[in-house]
Amino acid sequence: MNNSTQTDILVIGSGLGGLAAAWRAAKQGCEVTLLTRASNPEDSNTYRAQGGIIYRGRGERPEELVADILSAGAGLSSPEAAALLSHEGPRLVKEILIDELQVPFDPSPKFPGELDLTKEAGHSIPRIIHFKDRTGYSIERAFFERVKAHPKIKVIANATAVDLLTPSHHSTEPTDVYRPLSCVGAYVLDQTDGKIFSILAKETILASGGLGSVFLHTTNPPGARGDGIAMAYRAGARCINLQYIQFHPTALLAPDGCFLISETVRGEGGRVVDRHGNEFMQKFHPAGSLAPRDVAARAIYQTMLESGEPCVYLDITHKPADQLRERFPGIYAVCIERGIDMTREPIPVVPAAHYSCGGIATDDAGRTTVDRLRAVGEVACTGLHGANRLASTSLLECLVWGTRAGAGAAERVARGDRFYFPQVADWRYENEPADPALISQDWLTIQQTMWNYVGLIRSEKRLNRAMRVLRELDLEIARFYEKCEISDSIIGLRNGILTALLILEEADQARESRGCHYRID
Ligand SMILES: Cc1cc2nc3c(=O)[nH]c(=O)nc-3n(C[C@H](O)[C@H](O)[C@H](O)COP(=O)(O)OP(=O)(O)OC[C@H]3O[C@@H](n4cnc5c(N)ncnc54)[C@H](O)[C@@H]3O)c2cc1C
Repeated sequence: MNNSTQTDILVIGSGLGGLAAAWRAAKQGCEVTLLTRASNPEDSNTYRAQGGIIYRGRGERPEELVADILSAGAGLSSPEAAALLSHEGPRLVKEILIDELQVPFDPSPKFPGELDLTKEAGHSIPRIIHFKDRTGYSIERAFFERVKAHPKIKVIANATAVDLLTPSHHSTEPTDVYRPLSCVGAYVLDQTDGKIFSILAKETILASGGLGSVFLHTTNPPGARGDGIAMAYRAGARCINLQYIQFHPTALLAPDGCFLISETVRGEGGRVVDRHGNEFMQKFHPAGSLAPRDVAARAIYQTMLESGEPCVYLDITHKPADQLRERFPGIYAVCIERGIDMTREPIPVVPAAHYSCGGIATDDAGRTTVDRLRAVGEVACTGLHGANRLASTSLLECLVWGTRAGAGAAERVARGDRFYFPQVADWRYENEPADPALISQDWLTIQQTMWNYVGLIRSEKRLNRAMRVLRELDLEIARFYEKCEISDSIIGLRNGILTALLILEEADQARESRGCHYRID
């Protein structure tokens, strides 16, 4: 292939997982190429993270965090992964985020020279550091700038990874020798000219984030469409626990997508009410509007289904306006932008797909079941979250596993293990432009089907119906993809339908309700 480049390590994705991996690998002397489909850091879950990142409670021992993670994970979290995170995490936060990158975090109002520690649901003590209600933004912005400036890291933006390259699928060299499954890079779409080029790499690290966009309502950006899961699955990697999708109970319903309304709004007196202003949560849980996250999400969903209303409301207008503006500056500003003044009127909210606890199965260095392919961050399943994630563990997981994967990949490159760059096939261009009406209707079918049949409340009947609809659509999309001019949107659609089917199949097989997988049968 003419249009082909080579690198030591290819990192796909520029959220915290990808940045941490690229940073460590470059510091160990490797040439790194970091690819991102975004033109700016906003197209990532990292950028949207509000609450904070786990650091260390005052006088805390790692075992205390391990206990909280295992308890949230509903019996499925890996104790080894939890121990790794709890032992290595705080050190890396200090070394990389605080000292090296000097990410701003809010100082403690009580203890001079220390950082403010907050506590979220499921945590036994305050141990989370934050920057107002914009922690992810603060980390992503500081880290991305430093990564872009690193002489050993080449950042390619507006570039979408299409497929992972495996010699067994893509090599043009004839061989009668058995080749074990391995990854040698990726086909990449340059969004600026619509051309495909290949990046051949000795190690590839997938850090492409989550999959919330396969559901109708999500707190994730539109780019969270499961690209990494789909690419890894097609390359032969094992994916696990995909039925465990965490839904957040309250996301602002707005025409341009959902925005997370932090649980602290309920915690500080916000009442969940219907269109007529009546509280209804007591029917579902004695704590009423303060019901735990998963109960609250299901109760809101059920109420919307029964009433036929598109949303419910979160009413905190009984609190003084000044106090609300001071306590929730980010949420207040976003609501105002969408024409809602939360100090005077209830906020329209829906539950929304928030986090994928499952993903590509990895070990403690991010290795997948495909040789030379690692995965980190939300696209991966380290086993840490089990059937449900403890709040604010995911950013730390990105930092720990990103760093370990970057280090592991760099060590392997430095060892000079036998590796050669194979010849890969040229991309075959099809000329028929994709009809945008088909793409947008297919997305609606995926999102509506996933929301209603594979969402918060699942049953055999719903899952079977979803299976029939999505399998048929999958065939349509496969034919469509074969004939169409390649583009970011057609790549996303192909990945979205596959990711949806993978979630569906795991949900169908998991017969017991556990953590965030809830079946009524
Ligand atoms: C609203 C919200 C609030 C949250 N709050 C918190 C919190 O307070 N604390 C916490 O710990 N966690 C929080 N989380 C979860 C956490 O933010 C994410 O799990 C984490 O940031 C994921 O990071 P990542 O690097 O895996 O992926 P992301 O940050 O999503 O980055 C993925 C990257 O991959 C790129 N990409 C995707 N597909 C392709 C492709 N085909 N080719 C090239 N590039 C591609 C994207 O452009 C992006 O750059 C929150 C999540 C959301 C949505």
